[in-house]
Amino acid sequence: MSKYCFGIDVGGTTIKCALFLNDGTILDKWEVKTNTENGGERILPDIADGIDAKLKEKQINKAEVEGIGIGLPGPIEENGEIACAVNLHWGRKNIEKELGELTGMPVKAGNDANVAALGEMWKGGGKGARNLILATLGTGVGGGIIVNEKIVTGAHGAGGEIGHALVNPEETVACNCGNKGCLEQYASATGIAKLAREALEKSDKESLLRNREKVTAKDVFDAYKEKDELAGEIVEKFSTYLGHALAIFACVTDPDVIVIGGGVSKAGDVLVECVQRHYERHAFPVCKKTPIKLATLGNDAGIYGAAKLILSR
Ligand SMILES: [Zn+2]
Repeated sequence: MSKYCFGIDVGGTTIKCALFLNDGTILDKWEVKTNTENGGERILPDIADGIDAKLKEKQINKAEVEGIGIGLPGPIEENGEIACAVNLHWGRKNIEKELGELTGMPVKAGNDANVAALGEMWKGGGKGARNLILATLGTGVGGGIIVNEKIVTGAHGAGGEIGHALVNPEETVACNCGNKGCLEQYASATGIAKLAREALEKSDKESLLRNREKVTAKDVFDAYKEKDELAGEIVEKFSTYLGHALAIFACVTDPDVIVIGGGVSKAGDVLVECVQRHYERHAFPVCKKTPIKLATLGNDAGIYGAAKLILSR
C-alpha cells in the first residue's frame, strides 16, 4: 500500500512542490522557478527532476508513492489535457500523460483555483465538508466548486469560474473576459479599488480614504474598521454583489460551507459578517444558515488540493 504522494502547484513565476504522507502531513516543501522559455518546455521536466531528487534524498521507492497531483493555471479537461496556459507559454498539452511518462508515476491534473478549493475542503476552512464553494478574491475572482468531494470541471474546464457570473447588467465597462458586469469587476481587489474611486468621486463626504494617491482594497477595509462612513458604503456595495452571487451559486450546488480566500479575505471577520448578511437575505430558505468561512491555508491551498486530487482520483 502506498504511503506518500506529491502535491504540485504551478504558478507563472514559481512552482510549489510538496511531499506528503497520505494523511495530509507535509514531510517536505520546496520551490522551483517557472522556466517559461521556449514555450515552457522545461516546466514538466524540472518538476520531474525535483521529484526524482526528493525520492532519492528520502530513500523512498516509487512503489510507495500513490502518485502526483498537479494544479495548473488554465482550464483542464477530463482527460488531463490543458487547452492553453498563457502564463506558462503553453498551448494544448496532455499534462497527465507527459508528466506520467517523465516520472513513471500516476498523475492527476486540475485547474489551480479548483484544486485550491479541494485543499480548503480537505485541510482548510472547509475541513469536514463534502460540498463546498470557494471564492478566491485576489487581483481577479477565482473559484472552485466541490460536489461530493469532487471538483466540478464541466465540459470546457470552466466549472467554478464564478468570477464571471453576471451581477450587474447595467455595467458599461468591460471585464477581462470581454463581458460586462462580472462579479470580478466588484469583488476583486481591483474591483473594490474601482468602487472606492467611484464613491470618492460621487460623494463629498469626509473620509479617511480621501487625498491619497491610490486607494487599495486593504485601505477600504482598514477605514471600514475605523467606522469610516464612506468606506462603509463601499464595503456594503461589495458585499451586496458578492452575497447576492453566492446566494445564486448556493441555489445550484447547495454547499455545506462557502469559503472565502485570496488577498482581499485578509480583511478577516468583518468581511465575512457583511457578506453573510447579504447572502442570507437572498439565499433559498434552507440554505440561509450555510456558514461562510475564511480560507486558512493561504498559498499552500494549491499543494494540499493537488495531493488530495491524486489521492481521491
Ligand atoms: Zn468577466
